[in-house]
Amino acid sequence: TPAFDTMLELFRASVSRAPDAVAIRYFDGSLTFADLDARSDALAVALAEQGFAAGDRLAVYTQNNPAFVVGLLGAWKAGGSAVAINPMNKARELTYLLADSGATALLCLEELYASVARDVIAGDEVRVRTVFTCSPLDEQTRNDQRLFAGTNRGGVEGTIGLEQVFAEYAGRSPAPVSPRGDDVAVLTYTSGTTGVPKGAMNTHANMAFNSQTYRDWMGLGPDDALLGVAPLFHITGLVGHVGIALLAGCPLVLAHRFEPHVVMDAIREHRPTFTVGSITVFISLSGLEGATKDDWSSFRMVYSGGAPIAPAVTDQFQDKTGLYIHNIYGLTETNSPSHAVPLGVKAPVDPSSGALSVGVPVFNTVVRILDEDGKEAPVGEIGEIVTSGPQVVPGYWQKPEATEQSLPGGELRTGDVGFMDEQGWFFLVDRKKDMINAAGYKVWPREVEDVLYGHPAVREVAVVGVPDEYRGESVKAYVSLKPGAEVSEQELIGFAKEQMAAYKYPRSVEFLDELPKTTTGKILRRELRASGA
Ligand code: ATP
Repeated sequence: TPAFDTMLELFRASVSRAPDAVAIRYFDGSLTFADLDARSDALAVALAEQGFAAGDRLAVYTQNNPAFVVGLLGAWKAGGSAVAINPMNKARELTYLLADSGATALLCLEELYASVARDVIAGDEVRVRTVFTCSPLDEQTRNDQRLFAGTNRGGVEGTIGLEQVFAEYAGRSPAPVSPRGDDVAVLTYTSGTTGVPKGAMNTHANMAFNSQTYRDWMGLGPDDALLGVAPLFHITGLVGHVGIALLAGCPLVLAHRFEPHVVMDAIREHRPTFTVGSITVFISLSGLEGATKDDWSSFRMVYSGGAPIAPAVTDQFQDKTGLYIHNIYGLTETNSPSHAVPLGVKAPVDPSSGALSVGVPVFNTVVRILDEDGKEAPVGEIGEIVTSGPQVVPGYWQKPEATEQSLPGGELRTGDVGFMDEQGWFFLVDRKKDMINAAGYKVWPREVEDVLYGHPAVREVAVVGVPDEYRGESVKAYVSLKPGAEVSEQELIGFAKEQMAAYKYPRSVEFLDELPKTTTGKILRRELRASGA
């Protein structure tokens, strides 16, 4: 197989190989590779007519929708890059992202434009000149055929509807461009479980490399079908859904967002063979009333990434579905995987902490574990995970200091603490900044969480440090329970106490109906810490 250096090359190869193959399924409709090609050509021509030139940025601000993929391809064909924006962002956040990225064009879900973008675009810091809109997707209109293209007719005042673009520019081709591997394909903003959002510069070569990693690691090809439940603005969606589908030439069964019943219907109808998503998605889907093992029978494999998974949870999932959850680990800055569990292999569990391995480094990826003095830690010792490889971003958009801090010499300081065992398996202990200091003892929340997940009543758990006059910090668990399950605070504390050293078990437990999460399904420990103070 040829190695592709850019996302456009790998897409073009799939278009020439099988133009009529389905690229995206969305509710009851579909788009072929030729459709995607034609629509993104039209968008690229429209962009050029609006003055969008090489190196410019098109911000894409919509929930999962085929128009998102058209937006990416259109921006690349017009010689520019895309900026992926979380559709949950409100005016204040959107203003920051548009200003920071310097985007001059915006592709926006019509309903989002109506509520916030008008004020944002009028602002001084924002340079957006052209707005394309695509259709909203709500409960009432989702069965409307017109939506499969993710387009609308006229656009709202001051904007251009994507469908109008497709009609007006049908059959026209943009001036040929060939991006280079080191051109930025997408700016993705780190999701903000830490500090100010920074635009990771995901280059064409980064994204193309890891799209190929997925394909080759998991043996994906045109006969597969991918279930796309991760948000497309996040790196898992961009590389683990769009990248794979464009490269492998297989359909992406795209969910507009994570609504468990709707996603289960799509699984039953389209019979996907592969997905990568967050553990939250797997917990919800396997717990759905009426779901059976048969529903999962089309899957060859599932991968869970983005957040820790407790061994007890993978066991419960396997009981219900017959599928083993493979762990996969990476960051926005590594364009999805830096590590993964090889297909069909059961990852080991660390005997002392009970943590499940995140796998081994993927192709061409070099990983070092550095201790507090920056020296390489011996096998089995914990330290910061430092990663380099062709999927590691060159830096953050216009933030040289942050780049120097996180990527000195091109190596990524992940902020994750972990170790490698003698066989070469990697284990994450936790995020550096989440460590709890209880009376001078280091407590890693993950370990306490893994133990609590073993209690049959527990659905989800997050452990944080809260201020404590006596110990400095004390360990607190936030817990949501499975439907109908009951357990008291004292019982849960007792359950943990039996299984861990006295300084680690939680001193208090608070029950919540739902734990606060990012749109990628990651539990927001930061928010819990703030509320527990
Ligand atoms: P920010 O970078 O702003 O803090 P974020 O953490 O949501 O936001 P991402 O790049 O989406 O940014 O997430 C990467 C982090 O997710 C990793 O650093 C790691 O802590 C965690 N993570 C990813 N995969 C796994 C996994 N398989 N097991 C445990 N943790 C994981």
